[in-house]
Amino acid sequence: PKGLMWFRRDLRVDDNAALYQALRACRQVVCVFVFDRAILDPLPRIDRRVEFIRESLVELDAELRALGGGLVVRHAVAEDEIALLARQLDVQAVFANRDDEPAALARDARVLGALANAGVAFHSYKDQTIFERDEVLTQTGQPYSVFTPYKRAWLAKVDAFHLKPYPVRRHADALAPPPDPLRAPVPALADIGFEKSNLSELDIPTGSQGGAALFDDFFQRIDRYDAARDYPSVRGPSYLGVHLRFGTVSIRQLAGVAHQLSLQGDAGAATWLSELIWRDFYFQILAHHPHVAEGGESRSFKPEYDRIQWHHGKHADQLFDAWCQGKTGYPLVDAAMAQINQTGYMHNRLRMVVASFLCKDLGLDWRRGERYFALHLNDFELASNNGGWQWASSSGCDAQPYFRIFNPTTQSERFDPEGKFIRRYLPQLAKLSNAAIHAPWTASPVELVAAGVELGRNYPKPVVDHAEARERTLQRYAVVKAQA
Ligand code: FAD
Repeated sequence: PKGLMWFRRDLRVDDNAALYQALRACRQVVCVFVFDRAILDPLPRIDRRVEFIRESLVELDAELRALGGGLVVRHAVAEDEIALLARQLDVQAVFANRDDEPAALARDARVLGALANAGVAFHSYKDQTIFERDEVLTQTGQPYSVFTPYKRAWLAKVDAFHLKPYPVRRHADALAPPPDPLRAPVPALADIGFEKSNLSELDIPTGSQGGAALFDDFFQRIDRYDAARDYPSVRGPSYLGVHLRFGTVSIRQLAGVAHQLSLQGDAGAATWLSELIWRDFYFQILAHHPHVAEGGESRSFKPEYDRIQWHHGKHADQLFDAWCQGKTGYPLVDAAMAQINQTGYMHNRLRMVVASFLCKDLGLDWRRGERYFALHLNDFELASNNGGWQWASSSGCDAQPYFRIFNPTTQSERFDPEGKFIRRYLPQLAKLSNAAIHAPWTASPVELVAAGVELGRNYPKPVVDHAEARERTLQRYAVVKAQA
């Protein structure tokens, strides 16, 4: 039989579940990627992720060619194009890795229908997570909504079988080169309607070679992850999020190494594995509770939190703009927003700080921040982003209690004590002392003049007073307490 391998968020050859199954099942396998107009058309014309995908496809195509195959790349509406290609290529089955985001599930259901009408099978496989959907349940068969028991059950269940790589290359002789009319180089960004971003100037290597290089680098310091991961000025985390998002690394490989090291007593690796388990946790939350992020309008995991009256109107819009542009007057918040705006990355500690600031200092609906992150994060992942925002706004499954409100100044003093991170992203504050940099409005006029800082001119005054905002937030959230 002949098969079509449809690549989506799994842009690698090695240890690719669907590719392995396709090669085993079929005598000939043609590979395709579709730049899906349904996803791309609504996006702004500069997007680092589209460029990341494009660069990764160039590498994937070269790798497939070296193995005797190649990649057909289309720019079309995927759900029409796949059925069309299946007909043109006369395949009996289409193979893909599962994607449980609500929009992807709906798309795949329609593709399955169209293929079924044409007598073509559609096979999908788990590849994005170690455990998915119903694989980790409580003893009474319910999905978990608290992380710690989920993690315990996850660790009890995982074994060599779940972490074993798929030996794709062993079956590579079934790869077929694209037939002539479909054989073409990967289109340039301009051909799919996008302009170049600043991706190539950033330290974000693309493709599976880029993913492997980042992992090698992280592997050298994984034992220090525990101690380093909370400090945004330190190279503590792996920066692999974007590679996990687009499948240029295999979750089995990463979790396998981390699991092995943690069994040997490496505390850094154990903490990192925990983060990968958080990822599985949020994926299964989305699978079981799609209402949290379905149809473009997210809803609170705990419904009573949707009764909260968020600050809205013109002043709220101004506050939101200040947050987006990093002009709140709180240096750590503003430096973090500069990081996402300039690079598409934001350190985890800072994601928590700016998310808390948005809903608990500015009193704005967390969904506004969620949408902003969705547009700007290179590693945007619907399940984890929604989970992170609902954690910060306290509306989520295993969330920060609503009365726990980060103080942005104290967070800054604790996690960026010498202001190194702030100085990198807010050079206009670089000359302030370690004591003043976290809260420039507390500096003496003499120090401000000496440091060249003019509050309200080259750096904003705080847009809210934290202590007052805290009181307002406790009142705003009282409606939740009344319900509980
Ligand atoms: P590392 O610290 O090296 O962690 C390795 C991997 O573990 C990450 O790449 C990620 O896949 C996973 N991971 C780590 N922490 C978490 C977590 N709390 N929840 C789920 N998975 C985790 N992560 C995303 O992948 N996409 C998002 O869109 C996203 N949005 C977030 C929004 C908010 C408000 C918050 C608080 C967190 C969000 N996170 C998100 C989780 C976390 O901040 C990022 O995964 C992490 O910062 C990515 O950097 P890294 O790859 O260097 O992480």
